[in-house]
Amino acid sequence: MTKLDMGNDVDAVVSRLRALLDGPGLAVEQTMLKTGWVSALPQLHQLREQVKRLHAWAPHLQPTEGGLGMSLVEFAKVSEVLGRSPIGHWIANCQAPDIGNMELMHSHASHELRTRWLTPLMAGDIRSCFAMTEPEHAGSNPVWMSTRAVLDGGDYVINGHKWFTTGADGAAFTIVMAVTDPAGLPHKRATMILVPMDTPGLTLVQNIQVMGERGGDHHSHAELLFENVRVPYANRIGHEGQGFELAQARLGPGRVHHCMRWIGICERAFDLMCRRAVQRELSPGETLGRRDTVQHWVAECRADIDAARLLVLEAARLLEKGGVMLARDQISAIKFFTANTMQKVLDRAIQVHGALGLTDATPLALWWAHERGSRIYDGPDEVHKQSLGRSILKRYMQ
Ligand SMILES: Cc1cc2nc3c(=O)[nH]c(=O)nc-3n(C[C@H](O)[C@H](O)[C@H](O)COP(=O)(O)OP(=O)(O)OC[C@H]3O[C@@H](n4cnc5c(N)ncnc54)[C@H](O)[C@@H]3O)c2cc1C
Repeated sequence: MTKLDMGNDVDAVVSRLRALLDGPGLAVEQTMLKTGWVSALPQLHQLREQVKRLHAWAPHLQPTEGGLGMSLVEFAKVSEVLGRSPIGHWIANCQAPDIGNMELMHSHASHELRTRWLTPLMAGDIRSCFAMTEPEHAGSNPVWMSTRAVLDGGDYVINGHKWFTTGADGAAFTIVMAVTDPAGLPHKRATMILVPMDTPGLTLVQNIQVMGERGGDHHSHAELLFENVRVPYANRIGHEGQGFELAQARLGPGRVHHCMRWIGICERAFDLMCRRAVQRELSPGETLGRRDTVQHWVAECRADIDAARLLVLEAARLLEKGGVMLARDQISAIKFFTANTMQKVLDRAIQVHGALGLTDATPLALWWAHERGSRIYDGPDEVHKQSLGRSILKRYMQ
C-alpha cells in the first residue's frame, strides 16, 4: 500500500502544499527574492521540516524511501503546485538536478553507491549535480565532448572542463559524463561516473554569472575543472559506454518535471497579472482590466496555459505507458511549447505590472531572468522542433 492509498490522495497533497506556499512559504519566498537563496537557507530548512510533517516530502519516491509513491502523472500535478514558487520543489526535495540523479541512481547505480550517496540524497541531507555540458563544444550535440576517463589500475582518471553544472556549489557529488571509448560509435563513447566533489583535482572554478546573478548553493550554475581526478572503477553508473542511453532515459521524465513546474510558474504569473489588472487604476475607477488589450492577454494566456497542461499530462501518461520511445514526439512538443508559453505569460504579467513587475515585490522578475534558460537547456527549442518535424514527416514518406 502506498502513502497515497492511505487517504493521502494527490488532491490532498496539492492542497496542503498550496496552503504552505501561500502561507508561511510566502515570507520565505520574499526573503529569497530580496536577499538571495543562501541567506534564505535557514528558513528554507525549517519549511522542509514542515513539508515532512505534512506528509508531502519527496512525492516521487517510494514510501519505503520516505516518499509518497506517486506515479509520473500524479507527481506532475504536485509539480505544478510546487512550481508556483521558486522555493517549491526544493522544500519537497524534488528539485532538479537531484530528482534526475535520484531516478538514475535508483535504476543504474550499484548497491554500494546507492547506500553511500543515494540514501542521504533522498533524505535531503546532501545535494548533487550533473556535469555533462562543456564550454568548448555545442551542448546540443552532446556526443561531441572532450572530457576523458581513462582506466588506470582499479580507478578512472578523469580530465575535462564542464560548465553550467547546476547546484555544484555545496553539492556532495557530481555525476560526470566522460568519454571512455573515443573510438566507439558516437552514442557508445561516454560513461557516467560518480565523483565526490571533494576529490583531489576537481575544482569549482566559479559560479557563473547568469543574467547578472552569480547565485550560490542550489541556486547556481558552476564551471568545473577535472584535472587527473581519480575515482574507483566501481563509481561507474550503468555500463561503460551507456552514458548517452542513460542521459536520454533521464531526460524523458525530467522534461515532464520541468514542464509541470513551468505550468506552475504560468499559473502564479497569471494570478498576479489578473489581480493587478483589476486593482490598478489608470484614473479613478478606470482599472487596467477594462482595456481590451489586457482582456485579450488574459484570455490568450488562459487558453495557452490550459493547452500546455493538457499536452504535458498526455506526455506523462504516454511516458508511463510505453517509455521514452512511445512518448518521444510529445516530449519534444511539450519542451518548446511550454517553455514558450511560460515566457509569453511572464512577459504579459510583467507588462501589466509596469515598473513593479521588474522589482523583487513578486517572483516575476526572477523568473523572467532565470527561466529564459528553459528554451536552451534540456535541448534548445530548435532541436526539439527539428526532431518533432522530422518524426512527423517520416510517417508521410512511407
Ligand atoms: C540554466 C541552465 C542550466 C543548465 N544546467 C546544466 C546542468 O546541470 N548540467 C549540464 O551538463 N548542462 C547544463 N546546462 C547546459 C545545457 O544543457 C546547454 O546549454 C544546452 O544543451 C545547449 O548547449 P549550448 O549552450 O552549448 O548551446 P549550443 O549547442 O551551442 O547551441 C546554441 C544555439 O544554437 C541553436 N541550435 C542548436 N542546435 C540546433 C539545430 N539542430 N538546429 C537549429 N538550431 C540549433 C539553438 O538556438 C541553440 O540555443 C544548463 C544550461 C542552462 C541555461
